[in-house]
Amino acid sequence: MITLSGRTALVTGGSRGIGRATALVLAEAGARVVIADRTDCFADPDTATWAEIVRRGGQAESRYLDVSDSAAVDTLLADVSTGHGLDILVNNAGILQSGEIAETSDETWREQFRVNVDGTFYCMRAAVRAMLAGGAGTGGKPRGKIVNISSISGLRGNPGFAAYCAAKAAVVNLTRQAAIDYSPRGININSVAPGFVETDMTALYDAPTREALEGQTPNGRWADPRQIAEAVLFLASDLSDHVVGDILAVDGGWLIGTPVVTR
Ligand code: NAP
Repeated sequence: MITLSGRTALVTGGSRGIGRATALVLAEAGARVVIADRTDCFADPDTATWAEIVRRGGQAESRYLDVSDSAAVDTLLADVSTGHGLDILVNNAGILQSGEIAETSDETWREQFRVNVDGTFYCMRAAVRAMLAGGAGTGGKPRGKIVNISSISGLRGNPGFAAYCAAKAAVVNLTRQAAIDYSPRGININSVAPGFVETDMTALYDAPTREALEGQTPNGRWADPRQIAEAVLFLASDLSDHVVGDILAVDGGWLIGTPVVTR
C-alpha cells in the first residue's frame, strides 16, 4: 500500500487524460492535489477533476495555469509552496502536433517547445527552488519528488511527428540532467514515458492506423490513463527513493521491439 498522506502534489494538465488519472490516483493515496491547467478550474463541478477528488473524500483544488507562462508558473508554485509546502510535482501538461520536418511551420515548432519543453522547465525550476527552500521530508530521504511525463517519442522516432519527438527528447534529457544536479540535495527526479494511451490526444489516429500501432505493440494494446498514473504514483512515492533519473517506459513493450506475427 503506497501512502502519500500529508503530502502536497501539483499536477499540471489535470483536466483530462493522463493528468486527470494521475490526480485521482495521487489523491487516492492520500495526497492533497493541486491541479494546474487552463480549464479544470472553470469546468462544471459534475466533471471537473478537483470536484471528483472531493466527491471521493480527497483533498483537491484547481488553479488556472498556462505552463508556458514563466511568471505565472513562479507565482503559482510560490503560492502553493507557501500555503502547504510542495512535495511532489508531476509535469504532465503537453500538446501534440503532427508533421514531418518539411511540413512543420516555425509556429508549430515553437508551440511544441513552448508548452512541452519550456513549460516543463519553468515548473521544474520553480519546484526545485521551493523544495530546496524547505520542502517536506527528513533525514537522508528525498525531500521532493518530480515526475516528468515524456513519451516513447522522446526515445525513438515516431513517423510524422518531428517537433513533438524533438521536444519530448528534450524532456528526457532534462530529466536526467536535473536528477544528477538535485539527487544529492534530496530531490528525486524521474520520468514516465508512455506509449499509446487512450486520451483526447490520440484521437487523431484513424482506425486503420490505430490497428497497425496495436499490431506493432508486443502486448497488443493501448494503455488506459490509469496505467500511466500508477507508474507516476510509484515514482512519486517513497518506494522509488533509490530510482534516480530513470525514464520508465509504460508502453506495452513498444520500445523493446515489434512482434513478427501480425495480429
Ligand atoms: P490530453 O488528454 O490532450 O490532455 C492534455 C492536458 O495538458 C490537458 O489537461 C490540458 O489542459 C493540458 N495542457 C495543454 N497545454 C497546456 C498549457 N499550455 N498549460 C497548462 N496545461 C496545458 O493529453 P494526454 O494524452 O493526457 O497527455 C498528457 C501527457 O502525456 C502529455 O505530456 C503528452 O505529451 C504525454 N503523452 C501522451 C501519450 C498518449 O498516447 N496520450 C503518449 C505519450 C506521452 P487544458 O487544455 O485544460 O489547459
